[in-house]
Amino acid sequence: MATYEYLCGRCGPFDVRLAIGTAPADHGCPVCTGPARRVYSPPGLTLTPHTVASLHERDERSREAPAVVSEVPPGKGVPRRPHPALPRLPRS
Ligand SMILES: [Zn+2]
Repeated sequence: MATYEYLCGRCGPFDVRLAIGTAPADHGCPVCTGPARRVYSPPGLTLTPHTVASLHERDERSREAPAVVSEVPPGKGVPRRPHPALPRLPRS
Protein backbone atom coordinates (compact mmCIF):
# COMPACT_ATOMS: atom_id res chain seq x y z
CA MET A 1 0.00 0.00 0.00
CA ALA A 2 1.08 3.54 -0.72
CA THR A 3 -0.37 6.96 -0.02
CA TYR A 4 -1.23 9.02 -3.09
CA GLU A 5 -2.10 12.70 -3.07
CA TYR A 6 -5.03 14.14 -4.99
CA LEU A 7 -6.24 17.68 -5.32
CA CYS A 8 -9.92 18.51 -5.60
CA GLY A 9 -10.66 21.85 -7.22
CA ARG A 10 -13.32 22.64 -4.64
CA CYS A 11 -12.29 20.83 -1.45
CA GLY A 12 -8.51 20.87 -1.63
CA PRO A 13 -5.95 18.12 -1.20
CA PHE A 14 -6.62 14.65 0.20
CA ASP A 15 -4.77 11.38 0.44
CA VAL A 16 -5.81 7.96 -0.82
CA ARG A 17 -4.17 4.68 0.16
CA LEU A 18 -3.94 2.29 -2.77
CA ALA A 19 -1.82 -0.64 -3.82
CA ILE A 20 1.49 0.45 -5.31
CA GLY A 21 1.24 1.18 -9.02
CA THR A 22 -2.56 1.24 -9.14
CA ALA A 23 -3.14 4.98 -8.58
CA PRO A 24 -5.29 6.45 -11.38
CA ALA A 25 -4.66 9.96 -12.69
CA ASP A 26 -8.10 11.03 -11.46
CA HIS A 27 -9.87 9.94 -8.29
CA GLY A 28 -13.26 10.82 -6.87
CA CYS A 29 -13.18 13.38 -4.08
CA PRO A 30 -14.36 11.81 -0.79
CA VAL A 31 -16.27 15.01 0.10
CA CYS A 32 -17.97 16.24 -3.09
CA THR A 33 -17.41 13.09 -5.22
CA GLY A 34 -16.09 15.36 -7.98
CA PRO A 35 -13.01 14.48 -10.02
CA ALA A 36 -9.66 15.23 -8.39
CA ARG A 37 -6.32 15.19 -10.15
CA ARG A 38 -3.35 13.32 -8.81
CA VAL A 39 -0.62 15.53 -7.34
CA TYR A 40 3.05 14.55 -7.41
CA SER A 41 5.23 15.71 -4.57
CA PRO A 42 8.79 14.86 -3.58
CA PRO A 43 9.17 12.18 -0.94
CA GLY A 44 9.61 13.40 2.60
CA LEU A 45 13.36 12.95 2.60
CA THR A 46 13.89 16.65 3.29
CA LEU A 47 12.34 16.15 6.71
CA THR A 48 15.00 13.60 7.57
CA PRO A 49 17.63 15.06 9.90
CA HIS A 50 20.98 15.67 8.20
CA THR A 51 22.78 13.20 10.45
CA VAL A 52 20.33 10.42 9.66
CA ALA A 53 20.35 11.25 5.94
CA SER A 54 24.16 11.22 5.73
CA LEU A 55 24.35 7.91 7.59
CA HIS A 56 21.73 6.48 5.26
CA GLU A 57 23.70 7.66 2.21
CA ARG A 58 26.90 6.21 3.65
CA ASP A 59 25.15 2.91 4.29
CA GLU A 60 23.88 2.77 0.71
CA ARG A 61 27.31 3.69 -0.70
CA SER A 62 28.96 0.94 1.31
CA ARG A 63 26.84 -1.65 -0.47
CA GLU A 64 28.32 -0.84 -3.89
CA ALA A 65 31.74 0.55 -3.03
CA PRO A 66 32.72 -0.09 0.57
CA ALA A 67 35.56 1.91 2.02
CA VAL A 68 38.70 -0.22 2.02
CA VAL A 69 41.67 0.43 4.31
CA SER A 70 45.18 -0.87 3.68
CA GLU A 71 46.33 -0.72 7.31
CA VAL A 72 44.96 -0.44 10.78
CA PRO A 73 43.94 3.15 11.43
CA PRO A 74 46.18 4.95 13.93
CA GLY A 75 44.67 5.22 17.34
CA LYS A 76 45.60 5.72 20.93
CA GLY A 77 46.36 2.07 21.33
CA VAL A 78 45.93 0.02 24.44
CA PRO A 79 48.94 0.16 26.81
CA ARG A 80 50.55 -3.25 26.81
CA ARG A 81 51.41 -4.66 30.22
CA PRO A 82 53.31 -7.90 30.68
CA HIS A 83 51.18 -10.82 31.70
CA PRO A 84 51.21 -11.19 35.52
CA ALA A 85 52.29 -14.84 35.26
CA LEU A 86 55.31 -14.04 33.08
CA PRO A 87 57.84 -13.82 35.96
CA ARG A 88 56.78 -17.26 37.22
CA LEU A 89 57.42 -19.00 33.91
CA PRO A 90 60.45 -21.32 33.85
CA ARG A 91 63.52 -19.78 32.23
CA SER A 92 65.71 -21.85 29.98
ZN1 LIG B 1 -14.15 17.80 -3.54
